[in-house]
Amino acid sequence: MIAILKQNTTPEQIENLTKWLEGRGLKVHLSIGEFHTILGLIGDTGLLDTELLEGLEIVESVKRISEPFKNANRKFHPDDTIVEVCGLKIGGSHFQIMAGPCSVESEAQILEIAKSVKASGASILRGGAFKPRTSPYDFQGLRADGIELLLEAKKQTGMPIVTEIMNANHLELFEHVDIIQVGARNMQNFELLKELGLSRKPVLLKRGLANTIQEWLMSAEYIIAGGNRNIILCERGIRTFETYTRNTLDLSAVPMLRELTHLPVVVDPSHASGVARLVKPMAMAAAAAGAHGLMIEVHNDPVNAMCDGAQSLTPEQFKEVAEKVNKIRGVL
Ligand code: PEP
Ligand code: MN
Repeated sequence: MIAILKQNTTPEQIENLTKWLEGRGLKVHLSIGEFHTILGLIGDTGLLDTELLEGLEIVESVKRISEPFKNANRKFHPDDTIVEVCGLKIGGSHFQIMAGPCSVESEAQILEIAKSVKASGASILRGGAFKPRTSPYDFQGLRADGIELLLEAKKQTGMPIVTEIMNANHLELFEHVDIIQVGARNMQNFELLKELGLSRKPVLLKRGLANTIQEWLMSAEYIIAGGNRNIILCERGIRTFETYTRNTLDLSAVPMLRELTHLPVVVDPSHASGVARLVKPMAMAAAAAGAHGLMIEVHNDPVNAMCDGAQSLTPEQFKEVAEKVNKIRGVL
């Protein structure tokens, strides 16, 4: 439920009302927007006398929110959330490109790719250290050493880094990581989400392989419920009956999410298509659809990549994609 307050309500009046509501067992989330001040009420609002609330001098109106995600709901928080990473902003009118290899393979590899994607317009370096692989016999990532190499690349290029966590027990290793990625396979690992809710680090929450938008927002809700609002949603394609592409990019999720939630949403055209030559058109389409950023796999030697070579762009191809995306953004 939300209570929209009248303009010119004083902080003291808001505090008194908040205490009154908390006294009825509700959690109160205050959102002060440009035009409205909104109190988001979470808990068993069935016990609340809504007519009484609506009749209070400072309350303009009271509305029930039917969606199960409350904190992530735009009705709760009408302004876009802007996530800040080392001085960079994602969300609102701010757009960032994250690029890098699927997996960190060696110091030379990550440094070469980091420098080239930075020169071509990427602002955040991606790279998998802990890799969720379908087969236990495939390369599992350099794990803690991979994070060390990403930190070295960050030191040398100044780019913030994003890398995937698979187990909350590894959180200590992520202390200097700038954005913690929750991969598609862990979107509903609720214990992991709860732990990340206790952190204040930005979380890149990828959509699960076969999850609805509402399930995805409920996963974001787990993180916000713990107090961490620094969430970036990442559409990375969903599993359908189509076989020419690795997944099916659900681009309609972007404008839909922009209606439903205040959280920023980025698109990963690499995992969504699985085909390097499809990355450029899908990246351009994502920018046109209103995404707040992109995550793109880039490798200096895609043919010999240890993971996801078929969908990885060369640095030259990435440069062209970044240029085209910037042109689209200019038109918007
Ligand atoms: C990745 O980004 O490296 C990855 C494994 O992606 P996803 O979780 O979307 O499959
Ligand atoms: Mn990959």
